[in-house]
Amino acid sequence: MEEIKGFSNKIIEINLTDKSWSVSEASIEDRKMFLGGKGLGMKLLYDRLKPGVDPLGEDNILIIMPGVVTGTGAPCSGRFEAISKSPLTGIIATASCGGPFGIQLKTAGYGGLVIRGKSKDKCVVWFDHNTVEFRDATDLWGLDTVETQERVLNSSKTESKKEATLAIGPAGENLVRFANISSGHRFLGRGGLGAVMGSKNLKAVVAKGSHYKIVPAEPEKFQKVKKKATQFIKNDAVTISLGKFGTATNVKFVNKEKMLPVWNYSFGDHEHAFRISGEMIKEKHDTKVHTCKPCSIMCGHKGTFNGKESPVPEYETLTLLGSNLGVFDTNAISRFNDICNKAGMDTISAGGTLGWVMEAVEKGLVSPDLFVSSKNSKPNELSANENSSDDLDKTQSGTRKYSLMFGSINGIEEALESIAKGEGFGKEMGLGSRALSHKYGGKGFAIQVKGLEMAGYDPRGSYGQGLAYSVANRGACHLSAFLVSFEVLLGLLKPDTARSKPEFVKFVEDLTCSVNALQTCQFTMYAYTLQPMLTKYTPKFILKNMMLWLPEVAMTLFDFSIYPDLFSSITGIKMSSKEFLKSGERIHVLERYMNTREGIRGRDDVLPDRMLMETIVRDKKRRIVPLKEMLAKYYKLRGYNEDGIPIDKLLKKLKIPSQPSYSV
Ligand code: SF4
Repeated sequence: MEEIKGFSNKIIEINLTDKSWSVSEASIEDRKMFLGGKGLGMKLLYDRLKPGVDPLGEDNILIIMPGVVTGTGAPCSGRFEAISKSPLTGIIATASCGGPFGIQLKTAGYGGLVIRGKSKDKCVVWFDHNTVEFRDATDLWGLDTVETQERVLNSSKTESKKEATLAIGPAGENLVRFANISSGHRFLGRGGLGAVMGSKNLKAVVAKGSHYKIVPAEPEKFQKVKKKATQFIKNDAVTISLGKFGTATNVKFVNKEKMLPVWNYSFGDHEHAFRISGEMIKEKHDTKVHTCKPCSIMCGHKGTFNGKESPVPEYETLTLLGSNLGVFDTNAISRFNDICNKAGMDTISAGGTLGWVMEAVEKGLVSPDLFVSSKNSKPNELSANENSSDDLDKTQSGTRKYSLMFGSINGIEEALESIAKGEGFGKEMGLGSRALSHKYGGKGFAIQVKGLEMAGYDPRGSYGQGLAYSVANRGACHLSAFLVSFEVLLGLLKPDTARSKPEFVKFVEDLTCSVNALQTCQFTMYAYTLQPMLTKYTPKFILKNMMLWLPEVAMTLFDFSIYPDLFSSITGIKMSSKEFLKSGERIHVLERYMNTREGIRGRDDVLPDRMLMETIVRDKKRRIVPLKEMLAKYYKLRGYNEDGIPIDKLLKKLKIPSQPSYSV
């Protein structure tokens, strides 16, 4: 087979049912068309996963993919992707992570890992370049993500310690639909991929690398591109701010624009928002870097919370488990964060679900009597907090009562723990806000799309983001196309108009898919598109007007050629910016096509009623998202029919086979 440099084309396929394994090769054609990471992983899944399988059943498949950039030493090159069918949404889920597993997988000599089947017993899978071992995990079951990874790595039989893990905590074991997978201190966060591992009785996977040397095909060109990329990051105001204050740097502008989720997205700002801002956290909690590795932007931080060192909660955690619940106490949010991290749960879905529960209690849809946890379970055993349960009502009946209401930290830790343990009403909360609203009512204020809870940017302040949430393939995801950056952060696109939004949502979706196929951090998109001369020196008023009135022309002013240059210098395959963007389009449309095979239609490209019918409290502009007029145009641009299905002509144009191969 023709060889491409910079990565191995071998895919390791592990079957947990019969404890077998094999090595296949991705076709060179697929490599060229889908690049790697999310793209090639999507194609591998398309070729292997029959539509309609139970996400928690034996037939679901979990795919882990490094990208072309992973492990090369380029800025922010420590990332990898997971692709599977989500137990939360019932459609395709993808997630990216900056933990150490991706580099070890790649240097073990594999360009991808496919996990199939279901183990009869609880197990851990170990592999290196030429062996796979299935070890018993009975002793690890019940441990949190930190202990699991420590125990697994300490039991290593080798001296080199060149190993990295994927691991789940109790939430994954208990099939919480928004359980995540940890790798080091970073996470494959969204869509419940931890429950997919749990359903397969797979507690952890260990990859031992250092066998395969990643050598760029054109070393000199690669060094030049890398230098330029590093310079762009050093000079860019957004990446500088992310490095200084973390993702919480966004709190200030989001609050100012009334887009901060407060009380389940009823309000868009709060007088205490500054308390959860990156600037305040830096000052109060003595923060230091604590990043994915390697990273040149360094948005990940740790600091002193509750008297000990803990990761600084990300913007999404500060908002969804903070302002959204009416909580602005950073020590409390850090405890919620620690519980979720140790249990292995997505903080966005956890916070979105608790927001729905608090409102449902207020509206009388859910009885507060449901909030009980078993007396036998140690309170806060997943958290380091010793002082937070003083308000628990210890009943005689063997249960402990807790309360949940906006503006109070009380009960939140107990609720999170009961979700992770699948205990009492926690088991229902672990199904997510969509499932709860179907059972109890309150669909209009279940802030989710396609079952995935919305990220912490209220789209009523950023209409393009509203469209992006509604059509994002994995649900209400801000990372599919982060239009907030153009509309609010950079002030390049008028936020409260439908004009030009379909064009830019499509453009950013396609570009983001290609970036995720390379597996370099999405935050590089600021520096890599804004710092090149063409973009930087185009006067802002010209850029703004072009973006509003001539979007297709304006897109040509964004020079993102550094990405295809990285790809070409690593692989030796020539690639233009146009081809790079086309690959992104192909990946996005394939994912959409796979979702339509799972039943997704135009009716699912919606927003919660709250965003379409209610205005934000205190918003003088009285904005609601004009979704309908943006959607029709978006479908047309995409080449979907009026029901949101990619038409044959589009599939042919993008060389996506309308029938996958199930023979692999
Ligand atoms: S910028 Fe942040 S998310 Fe991106 S690779 Fe670095 S630490 Fe990870």
